[in-house]
Amino acid sequence: MNIDQLSNQVLDGERRALARAITLIESSRGDHRMQAAELLERLKGARRQAIRIGLSGTPGVGKSTFIESFGSMLTAQGLRVAVLAVDPSSARSGGSILGDKTRMDRLSRDPNAFIRPSPSQTHLGGVARRTREAVALCEAAGFNVVLIETVGVGQSETVVAEMSDLFLLLLAPAGGDELQGVKRGIMEMADVILINKADGDLKAAATRTCADYSGALRLLRKRPQDPEGFPKAMTVSALEEDGLQTAWSEMQTLTDWRREAGFFDGRRADQARYWFEQELRQALLSRLETPEARAEMTRLGQAVSEGHATPAVAAQQLLVSLGLKDR
Ligand code: GDP
Repeated sequence: MNIDQLSNQVLDGERRALARAITLIESSRGDHRMQAAELLERLKGARRQAIRIGLSGTPGVGKSTFIESFGSMLTAQGLRVAVLAVDPSSARSGGSILGDKTRMDRLSRDPNAFIRPSPSQTHLGGVARRTREAVALCEAAGFNVVLIETVGVGQSETVVAEMSDLFLLLLAPAGGDELQGVKRGIMEMADVILINKADGDLKAAATRTCADYSGALRLLRKRPQDPEGFPKAMTVSALEEDGLQTAWSEMQTLTDWRREAGFFDGRRADQARYWFEQELRQALLSRLETPEARAEMTRLGQAVSEGHATPAVAAQQLLVSLGLKDR
């Protein structure tokens, strides 16, 4: 592959070249990894920046519908919008497929939009790296907004929040006045909580749910990276395309404030450090995945379980045999 040519085409914003570049970074072949690294290095010099928006919500809450309407609203304003996904379920059995073009029909045909489903990898760490690199490619290709979608389960929110400038949590109207068992940690990650489906019969419930969350958010510790009034909860209807412009204005207000206060670049710098440490951890852990290391681990594990070695000594021995520790 001609990396020079590919890099120029990406910089020209060619979507097919962008798709090919993402396929390259998703490949785990050794030569592809090297080409990918070269490509990313070249594109870094362009110093283009998008607003990276993370979006999380349980299946059925309306993520695809929201991305379709919100994304189309932005492209109508002349912005270029890329949609990526972090899918924690490797098997993808049942449930929704993230970043599925057939569920974002209008946006997928929009010349100012680019949609890419989650790479299929078993490791969330692998998906995280591919997605981060894809974000960088989209920025180099001149996209103004990168939406990163994920499902509200487990670790995937953290992964997405750590690569986003803004984090949106999409919720459905609750039946009662209970907070829908949203984990505190996820709520603390959110910059804007959007109560979707605020239309028709669900409108009253959405308004109530929004008030509940506004109350709950006020009880959270004020974060230094936020101006007065944030994080905040709002109602929207993705289906009727209602409240989307207001939501976008709030996101811009927050982003502008953070840029001026230095938190925008600060957050990206912290994220870069976070990902460096994650990469390092993962690289070290992968040293345990080789057949030799596994065999040695089984052998030492057996010795420990039979009382021939202590766990600490056996662990040290394994590190020595991996060349990670001197005798
Ligand atoms: P996802 O699984 O989170 O991507 O959710 P979808 O976007 O596929 O939406 C799930 C269902 O909720 C679909 O039947 C949508 O039509 C419906 N839905 C999404 N947004 C809205 C909304 O704003 N109002 C109403 N009434 N229904 C919606």
